[in-house]
Amino acid sequence: MLAIISDIHANAEALEAVLQSAWMQGIEEIWCLGDLVGYGPNPQKCIDLIQKNCKVCLMGNHDWAVLHSPVSFNSIATRMIYKTKKWLKPAEDADEQQIERWEFLENLPKGYDEDDSCFFHASPRDKLTEYLLPSDVQYDREKLQDVLEVIDHYCFVGHTHVPCCIKEGLELVVPEGNGFTVELDERNAIINVGSVGQPRDGDNRASYVILDENRVTWCRVPYRFEKTAAEIAKLGKDYEILGHRLRVGR
Ligand code: ZN
Repeated sequence: MLAIISDIHANAEALEAVLQSAWMQGIEEIWCLGDLVGYGPNPQKCIDLIQKNCKVCLMGNHDWAVLHSPVSFNSIATRMIYKTKKWLKPAEDADEQQIERWEFLENLPKGYDEDDSCFFHASPRDKLTEYLLPSDVQYDREKLQDVLEVIDHYCFVGHTHVPCCIKEGLELVVPEGNGFTVELDERNAIINVGSVGQPRDGDNRASYVILDENRVTWCRVPYRFEKTAAEIAKLGKDYEILGHRLRVGR
């Protein structure tokens, strides 16, 4: 049994709640699909917790942006990337832990394969940035068909912050609430695990999945988002919108 988490976005309160929830369910390992940082106020703590708890961790587009530069981000996301870079990039007098955190980010892989499953932050075709959304079943069928064709069997992603499962034939399942389960079958499938630190499906609880053989269960974990929002608000008025998104789960 495996827990798969994604899109932490420097939200330590959500991450701590999810780690506690996952370990309590008797899983063997936790894997993370990237975006450890960006949007949230606690990148250091989140990187440390991921390093300690996750056997596999991939790179997300926000992690890449902090290491390099933010391309096609909105203005508040861009400003948060520069802030995060200032917090994380080791200065000349940096201690070992700061250097190690930065190197951990730099060395994150962009994909992972195991048995007949593949794991990416965003998509197998464009590993860091392509969005695979539930609405694509209606508006961009060719994109999903192409992706479902290139994968071996199951493909686990994050990035959109919207949990869902799309099977070959474009059968869409949108999980609702805590404990929603989907049985994977012989058809290829894309599974979006949702976001720990900034859910966008209207449910403000942190999202992750448990994978048990071919059964995927979405777990939703309440956490103290007001604490995270208050910390974000301390950064200045412009940033308050990022705290508000946590309250409404959008
Ligand atoms: Zn993200």
